[in-house]
Amino acid sequence: MILPIVSYGQSVLRQKCEEIDQTYPDLNKLIEDMWETLYPADGSGLAASQVGHLIKLFIVDSKEVFDRMEAEERVEFFVGDKGIKETFINAKITKYSDDLWIEDEGCLSIPTLSEEVTRSWTIEIEYFNKDFQKQTKTYSGTTARIIQHEFDHTEGKLYIDYVNPLKRKLLNSKLIKISKGEIKAKYKMVYGKS
Ligand SMILES: [Zn+2]
Repeated sequence: MILPIVSYGQSVLRQKCEEIDQTYPDLNKLIEDMWETLYPADGSGLAASQVGHLIKLFIVDSKEVFDRMEAEERVEFFVGDKGIKETFINAKITKYSDDLWIEDEGCLSIPTLSEEVTRSWTIEIEYFNKDFQKQTKTYSGTTARIIQHEFDHTEGKLYIDYVNPLKRKLLNSKLIKISKGEIKAKYKMVYGKS
């Protein structure tokens, strides 16, 4: 089932998410629905808070990004993986590399906008996968960028928080329009301030 994605302006996007365990009701169905929601929206990651669940859960598909890239881009943006398709539960980023890089980022909750964001090139992360098996992994490049973006959602943070104040000011009128539903996404969304 495709779930409506919550737009910028709604308070669920600004709240810290809770850890969960295997007893969380209908968890597998929620994860399945999140994948079904991600693809038609043309996204590479989605956090549960974006579909109204304030829990530490997100999904990442950097495989699609990898597959779409030319060979020389793959070498530049992917190190150590050829893209991943993974579910992250109760994730904690335990290490951010000092090695930084800048790249355009967008967010399904903030349709039509994108801005340059500085992120760590490499991260170390601990999490549980969809079968609740504990994982400790290191990711770099595009995969690490998407993970950092989605992890931020579980902390109530958005990529626009990293944009410098002047650029943020310029974005403001568009953000207000998004929250009012005056700028619309092509996929199903819930607009409005709450
Ligand atoms: Zn996002």
